[in-house]
Amino acid sequence: MTDSRQLYQEVILDHNRKPRNWGALADATHRAEGVNPLCGDRLQLGVKLNGDAVEAIAFEGESCAICKASASMMTTVVKGKARADAEDLIREFRDMATGKLDPAKETHHLGRLTVFAGVRDLPTRVKCAILPWHTLHAAFNSLGTTSTESDDDPMHEPAPGGVA
Ligand code: ZN
Repeated sequence: MTDSRQLYQEVILDHNRKPRNWGALADATHRAEGVNPLCGDRLQLGVKLNGDAVEAIAFEGESCAICKASASMMTTVVKGKARADAEDLIREFRDMATGKLDPAKETHHLGRLTVFAGVRDLPTRVKCAILPWHTLHAAFNSLGTTSTESDDDPMHEPAPGGVA
């Protein structure tokens, strides 16, 4: 087992056992629910923006270990950040998980989130890891509910040659 693979498993297990920022945020200014029908992941995310900064963030729901760990880690990373910086991370995380960004070769702000780089080799898990980020994007933009499989999904990319 490589070091990165081992680190990945440790992080998933740790955040799954003790998810950070778990629960409902009573005074959230922005909320969204994210669903990934392919796996059955369902997350409710609450964000409290103070001006342009993420003052508080919390999530709950039912999801697989990868989704829960990704959500837990996301909340710890974006808390206290400016919304624009969080949006950058959403983009970078998605690009890393889908293999468009190689964190070993390109500049990014992902820090310890690079532990999730390995999901690009696990196609069925990519959406599990992305869902929390996707839901954060929806919350910021007051989209309410978002699905990894819906057409209004901001992360949705039509298949090449598919019907627009
Ligand atoms: Zn999942």
